[in-house]
Amino acid sequence: MAIIHRRQTANVVIGTVCVGSCHPIVVQSMTNTDTSDAASTAAQCAALAQAGSELVRVTVNIAEAARAVPEIRQRLDDLGITAPLIGDFHYNGHLLLRQYPECAKALAKYRINPGNVGVGKQHDENFKTMIEVAKDNAKPVRIGVNWGSLDAGLLTSMMDANARLREPREAREVTLEALVESALRSAEMAEQFGLGHDKIILSAKVSGVQDLIDVYRKLAERSDAPLHVGLTEAGLGMKGIVASTSALSVLLQEGIGDTLRVSLTPAPQGDRTEEVLVAQQILQSLGLRSFTPQVTACPGCGRTTSTFFQELASEIQAYLRTQMPQWRQKYSGVEELRVAVMGCVVNGPGESKHAHIGISLPGTGEDPKAPVYVDGKLFVTLKGDTIAQQFSEILTTYVASHYSVH
Ligand code: SF4
Repeated sequence: MAIIHRRQTANVVIGTVCVGSCHPIVVQSMTNTDTSDAASTAAQCAALAQAGSELVRVTVNIAEAARAVPEIRQRLDDLGITAPLIGDFHYNGHLLLRQYPECAKALAKYRINPGNVGVGKQHDENFKTMIEVAKDNAKPVRIGVNWGSLDAGLLTSMMDANARLREPREAREVTLEALVESALRSAEMAEQFGLGHDKIILSAKVSGVQDLIDVYRKLAERSDAPLHVGLTEAGLGMKGIVASTSALSVLLQEGIGDTLRVSLTPAPQGDRTEEVLVAQQILQSLGLRSFTPQVTACPGCGRTTSTFFQELASEIQAYLRTQMPQWRQKYSGVEELRVAVMGCVVNGPGESKHAHIGISLPGTGEDPKAPVYVDGKLFVTLKGDTIAQQFSEILTTYVASHYSVH
C-alpha cells in the first residue's frame, strides 16, 4: 500500500461501515432505478454491492419511494447483502422522514442538500426536522452541497458582500467559498440542533476538475468531518472516467477523501456497476486499497501483429473477475496478486518478472512459445493452442498455494 498521509478526521459509523481517517476509503454508488419499484431497486442495489459498493444511495423523492425503502432493505437482507442504504433527500425530506418512520429506520444515513430544504425561516425549520429525525434514530447525515443547487440566499449575500469590497474577488472564487460556507454552516447548525459531531460527513461537489480540487482543499482545511468526494455530473464514458480520475487522484494523493463516488452517466442499457469498478480502480491504482488482482498488459505494437495477446489479456482479466468472489472468501490477500500478459520478448520477460505471475507471448517472427515466470523466475514455457487454458491453471494453482485459507 502507498504511504499517503490521510487528513485526520472524526470517524462516522454508517450501519456496518465506518468512514473516516481510521478506516479504509469507502466506495459508494447510487442507483438510477425508480425507488418506488422495490424489486428493481433492490436488484440494482444488490448488483452494486456485489460489484464492491460498500454504501449504496437511493433517491427518496416521493411518498411511494419512502414506502418502498423498508422493503428494499428487507430484500437485501434476505440476499445476505449488508451494504448500508443511504437516502438522498431534496425539497421534501423533512416531510418524508417524519411521515415514514420505517423509511427513516431502514436507512443507515440521510443525505441532506442544504440548498434544497427551503428558503429563509422555512429552510432552518425543515433542516431542523431532518436533523431531529437523524438524532432520534441515531443516524448520521451527509451534508451534501452541490453547486447546481447551491443555497441561493447565501450565494447572493456573499456576492453582495464581495461587490462592496475595495478589490472584489472573482465570481468563481466567491462561488467556491459559498459552497464551503454552506457545508460548514449547515454542519454547525446540525450540531446546534443536537446531532453529534461524529454523525456528520460533508461534501461539496462541482463538475469542474480544478474547481473540485480547490473546493475540497478549502473544506479539508476548515473541518475535521470525513469528506465524501466525487465530481458531480462527471459525464459519459471516457470523459467521465478521465475527469473523475484526474480530480480524485489529486485529492486522494493529498490525503483528502474518506468515501468516494464516481458519478458516470451510463450508456443506454449500460451497466450501472461501472461506476463502482472505476472507483475501485482509482483507489487501487493509487495504491490506497486492493480490490482485485491487477493485470499488467502491454499496449502491443508492430512487433505483435496478431490479436492473440490482447485476447489473452482480456480473458485473464475476465477469469480473475469471475474467480474473485470465491477467492476473496477463501484466500486471504489474493486481491494483491499481480499478473503480467506481455506481447513480445522486448519487455515481456522483464515485466513478467516484476509480477507474481507473468507470461511473455511470442511476437511476430519469434519462436511460437510463451515463457511463464512465477515470482521472478522462469517456471515453464508454454506452446500450442491451449496456452490460455494452461496459464489459467497455473494461476489457479498459484493462488491456492500462496494465499492462506480463511
Ligand atoms: S512488449 Fe513487445 S509487443 Fe508489447 S509493446 Fe513492448 S515491444 Fe510491443
